[in-house]
Amino acid sequence: MQGKVRALCQHCHKCPAGRPRGLCWGCYRNLEIRNRYPRRFVPKGIPDRFCNPPLPPYPTRAPAGSREKLAVLCIRAMLGYNLWHPDDGPPPDPSELP
Ligand SMILES: [Zn+2]
Repeated sequence: MQGKVRALCQHCHKCPAGRPRGLCWGCYRNLEIRNRYPRRFVPKGIPDRFCNPPLPPYPTRAPAGSREKLAVLCIRAMLGYNLWHPDDGPPPDPSELP
């Protein structure tokens, strides 16, 4: 005796449902029958937060390259925001760079 009880085909209710959509092999092979039953699992993939994440709610005046700006970038990344806001502080003055 088998320990595992297998669900029966949701179309013919005779054969074990060994194919997707809860169908048996015979019913699944028949496209007319298969298309009557929607897919149960629709792959959604990994949420993409890198292509077009929302803008952060506030800009920062922290100077680019500073520890403060780095902390702001970390928090934005953690919250799934775009790293850059168009009104963020200006880039550093090239004359002040080492
Ligand atoms: Zn069937």
